[in-house]
Amino acid sequence: MKTKLLLLTLVVIAIAGFFLAEIDQYFSLAGARSLQNDVLIWRADQPLALAALLFVVYVAIAALSLPGAAVMTLLVGASFGLGWGLLIVSFASSIGATLAFLMTRYILRDSVQARFGERLQTVNDGVERDGMFYLFSLRLVPVFPFFLINMLMGLTPIKTRQFYWVSQLGMLPGTVVFVNAGSQLSELTSLSGILSPTLLASFVLLGIFPFIAKWLLALIKARRVYAGWQRPAKFDRNLIVIGAGAAGLVSAYIGAAVKAKVTLIEAHKMGGDCLNYGCVPSKALIKTAKVHNQQRHGDVYGLEPHAPALDFRKVMARIKAIIAQIEPHDSIARYTDLGVEVIAGYAKLVDPWTVEIALNNGGTQRLSARSVIIAAGAQPAIPPLPGLDEVGYLTSDTLWDALANQVEPPKRLVVLGGGPIGCELAQAFARLGSGVTQVEMLPRVMIREDDEVSVAVTASLTADGVAVLTNTKALRCEQADGQKQLIIRNALGDEETIVFDTLICAVGRSARLTGYGLEALGIDTERTVKTNDYLETIFPNILAAGDVAGPYQFTHVAAHQAWYAAVNGLFGSFKKFKADYSVIPWVTYVDPEVARVGLSEAEAKEQGIPYEVSRYGIDDLDRAICDSQAEGFIKVLTVPGKDRILGVTIMGAQAGELLAEYVLAMKHGLGLKKILGTIHSYPSMAEANKYVAGEWGKSHAPEWAYKYLVAFHRWRRS
Ligand SMILES: Cc1cc2nc3c(=O)[nH]c(=O)nc-3n(C[C@H](O)[C@H](O)[C@H](O)COP(=O)(O)OP(=O)(O)OC[C@H]3O[C@@H](n4cnc5c(N)ncnc54)[C@H](O)[C@@H]3O)c2cc1C
Repeated sequence: MKTKLLLLTLVVIAIAGFFLAEIDQYFSLAGARSLQNDVLIWRADQPLALAALLFVVYVAIAALSLPGAAVMTLLVGASFGLGWGLLIVSFASSIGATLAFLMTRYILRDSVQARFGERLQTVNDGVERDGMFYLFSLRLVPVFPFFLINMLMGLTPIKTRQFYWVSQLGMLPGTVVFVNAGSQLSELTSLSGILSPTLLASFVLLGIFPFIAKWLLALIKARRVYAGWQRPAKFDRNLIVIGAGAAGLVSAYIGAAVKAKVTLIEAHKMGGDCLNYGCVPSKALIKTAKVHNQQRHGDVYGLEPHAPALDFRKVMARIKAIIAQIEPHDSIARYTDLGVEVIAGYAKLVDPWTVEIALNNGGTQRLSARSVIIAAGAQPAIPPLPGLDEVGYLTSDTLWDALANQVEPPKRLVVLGGGPIGCELAQAFARLGSGVTQVEMLPRVMIREDDEVSVAVTASLTADGVAVLTNTKALRCEQADGQKQLIIRNALGDEETIVFDTLICAVGRSARLTGYGLEALGIDTERTVKTNDYLETIFPNILAAGDVAGPYQFTHVAAHQAWYAAVNGLFGSFKKFKADYSVIPWVTYVDPEVARVGLSEAEAKEQGIPYEVSRYGIDDLDRAICDSQAEGFIKVLTVPGKDRILGVTIMGAQAGELLAEYVLAMKHGLGLKKILGTIHSYPSMAEANKYVAGEWGKSHAPEWAYKYLVAFHRWRRS
């Protein structure tokens, strides 16, 4: 810090000295002309010494961002002619510019990036990707003040070496013109006459050349991808969407809203996973389990505790009824009303623009579209466990139908997997009376969250009767004495046998990548369909959104991506938008809930991002105490010394609802001070957000000011 301050002071002194000593007069056109004769005499006597002096002065002028570089160029041109003059000026200006760039970077970059880091992210990304193009264009067009370019580039992540050579190359044409004009220095009356409008226009053209070249390259690349495919002369639709889950429904909705002709194709159930097998049924089950649990623990609320009689068929019937109640939101009728053509059938891409549909009611239909969105979702991953197929297993896709007619929940249930879905299901079934064993290979459940979250979730699962086995590998399934068995290797390395009636695989979900034409078209896939930032596959007119595209597997992210996919698919030839993943929230609906947005503490450490933690224990919150839900915490990570939020983890009742305030804050750049300054009604759970902001406030209170306040009040009392 001290060195930075010292350097800044020296620069300021040098600049002030330049003006106070009126050295600037020599760097005007008139000044240069008055020096010209002396310089020419010197040139004849000691050319090398003169060249060295002009070189050093030029470097200093450029490095200190002083005015006069253009006049210096003319003077050098007048003294040495085009050849040597160009050599001197080209190197002196590039070295000087690089010194100015480095000084700005050293003195200012850290503080600017720390202060505006997140808001600068787009600029940083743009510079990292296209920085050389931007710099080259700016250098070519000599109307942009060079000293500003040097300083602004110093604040970006562009590499010094790149800055140097691109600057030298970009400035070359302008330098040639100015050095050459130096030969007529005595006749020049103004600098503006040096560049004629035609010359300036040529520079502008040269400046935009890199962008035209880039656009052409993209065009050639796209052409190459499409080579060998016959593009239809015209299209049946503007947009075809494959899959009617969250991603597909929202894509189709947006397409229809902007009056495009859209066809949405769904092979199975409208609403996809979330409505039929995922969010909706699981949350409905969790609610019944919670009510059941509250009744069993009625004494907590001053009631007689009792275990309510349970007919599991009714629980499952309620879930079905809830799905049916929500179904109209995603129905064919609603989407048809919105202007979307919905086709029930299995879609297959036959070329980059054509989809063949095996209709559910028989026959096939072919449709072409300018753009296609793949929204085919994901399916439960099945571990390669010997004997698993033989003993049989359920997944989130199958359990709702498979258990619909059981009077009781499974007696002995194994849940494979300690991720969010595994934890939610394990707790819900345990609360409804199943004997649940949860098997997780990793050292802890909910591995994406901080350690303390895993510990707390394990504690609540255990309290509800789940046997949580971590560091435990499922080895194989067997059938012995009419009993289904899972053989595991436990944390100590020993084999153990777990007898079960039902096993649910919840070890993750894999994107649907095969069977509908991706392979034949050569669309890149790894774990998901590979897309660029605009959600385009290798074919810019085929885009992907939702679980099939990753990287997140949430309904709200699928819907969020769908907007980008639809807009880029329909209007991408004019303007494209990059999918923005900067503020993605998620909630795991275990009880108490776990909610998160932004960085966890472990992630901040892993990525070397400095942070401070503010923490508030929900056990202290009046409303949580009234509700006998006084457990959990809010942990907010902020930029050191600032109230800017980097990430929030909440564990507690209604954590998912509390999170919304932070999502808004992060999205719109509001810090903890704004949350602290907002009225939160009493007694609400949301007050916890204000209290954690208060914790931040306390730890950043200006202690030094308190001394004076004490003195002030003492004086007022006297
Ligand atoms: C148990 C469980 C609980 C969950 N809980 C939550 C939660 O609480 N919150 C949350 O945000 N997320 C949750 N999720 C995740 C959420 O369900 C998914 O992220 C979301 O459904 C993804 O939507 P999607 O449109 O990408 O895919 P999907 O919903 O899977 O939709 C894809 C659709 O495409 C259709 N399809 C596939 N191929 C073709 C083809 N060739 N032709 C025609 N149709 C085709 C499929 O039939 C399917 O209907 C949960 C998931 C599960 C399993």
